[in-house]
Amino acid sequence: LTEKLQNVFKSLRSKGRLTEEDVKAALKEVRMALLEADVNFKVVKNFVKEVQERAVGQDVMNGLNPGQMVIKIVNEELVKLMGSETTEIRLQPGSAITVLMMAGLQGAGKTTTTAKLAGKYKLKGKNPLLVACDVYRPAAIKQLQINGEKQGVEVFSMGEKNRPADIAKAALEHAKKNHNNLVILDTAGRLHIDEEMMSELQEIKEAVEVHQTILVVDAMTGQDAVNVAGSFNEKIGIDGVIVTKLDGDTRGGAALSIKAVTGCPILYVGMGEKLSDLEQFYPDRMASRILGMGDVLTLIEKAGAELDEDKARQMAEKMKKAQFDFEDYLESMNQMKKMGGLSSILGMMPGLGGLGGLGKGKLPELDTQENEKKMARMEAIIYSMTVEERRNPDILNPSRKHRIAKGAGVDIAEVNRMVKQFNETRKMMKKLPGMMGGRGGKKGRF
Ligand code: GDP
Ligand code: MG
Repeated sequence: LTEKLQNVFKSLRSKGRLTEEDVKAALKEVRMALLEADVNFKVVKNFVKEVQERAVGQDVMNGLNPGQMVIKIVNEELVKLMGSETTEIRLQPGSAITVLMMAGLQGAGKTTTTAKLAGKYKLKGKNPLLVACDVYRPAAIKQLQINGEKQGVEVFSMGEKNRPADIAKAALEHAKKNHNNLVILDTAGRLHIDEEMMSELQEIKEAVEVHQTILVVDAMTGQDAVNVAGSFNEKIGIDGVIVTKLDGDTRGGAALSIKAVTGCPILYVGMGEKLSDLEQFYPDRMASRILGMGDVLTLIEKAGAELDEDKARQMAEKMKKAQFDFEDYLESMNQMKKMGGLSSILGMMPGLGGLGGLGKGKLPELDTQENEKKMARMEAIIYSMTVEERRNPDILNPSRKHRIAKGAGVDIAEVNRMVKQFNETRKMMKKLPGMMGGRGGKKGRF
């Protein structure tokens, strides 16, 4: 019981400001999480530095401990860094033809993504034309044709004997005649950044007006993806990025690095090999994936939304005076439930997994299910009390306890045990008024 009450205290702590130590300690975890997620280390370094400057001295939101408050700030900054909102591919107005050029290394997913995009825009009423500019691998043309057929869109190809720039030019003539208003050029990649590839793309850009150059990168290549994005942006200039293969278990740190390095928005994410597996990019979802602290973020969100500040303060006052009764106890249990139950809260509490456990998710050493069962039984016991008994636990004599046990369907020994623990907790609180924080310059975590 004591342990559980302590958890309640933690969520009831009064506000304070984030000290440099609070921030540093939490950012150490953040740095690890970002590096684990394959975010480029320079990006991590800058990011952490900026968050540190922003976070120190900020108020700790009620319902959060300093560590969680820092995570909240980190998450907000990550979202900001990735663009805050979704970005659409910029199309030419009206019936004018928009030309998109897909660029990227071999195997990144250009051909697949070309067909995926075609399907998306066809649904939006566009009439796409896919153009096979990869003349190096015979299979690449065939692949585009098969995918185009699956999507019910036309594919333009001139075999392997022509230069990509000439193919693009011819394709545009074809599009004009056939009323295609979205032309997507599927180009050839290479295994590595290479001059020939870049000049080929440059030639295409000189031959036709490319409205948007879209870089396709494989999320699984992690750190490499950022160098790739940087080079492409430098050599040919890119307008947007599509990150593929996020259906794997990579945390997708590449997405963050790419945005940071190129300044280009991420437009879509590839979530599988099927042609329907292309999703809009949501910075907030990506941020929480990269941070890998989904549980904590959920808690932070809930704490922000549900913890009633006044109630919390009232309860803290009562606790200090050791007037805490069973009604308050019920109230605090409900508060916990609103926040996702004991099991989702325990692991996030400092001292009980705390920051050290962030990102690891589960708490194997704490049998939270067992704890939750105990809590449910305790609740049953309290509900079997009269209001008077709940408010004055001191009047609980053996015959009342007997009646309560029967009502709750538990053994009288369990009622005794609970009342005893409850009284001990009250005693302890009397001795430790400082536990409630707020006064005496107590800072940091409990
Ligand atoms: P390209 O060389 O850049 O044209 O790459 P491809 O489009 O040929 O794709 C290379 C491989 O990656 C193929 O096996 C695709 O099925 C696969 N692929 C592409 N996008 C995704 C994705 O979002 N998720 C998964 N799991 N596989 C993908
Ligand atoms: Mg290809």
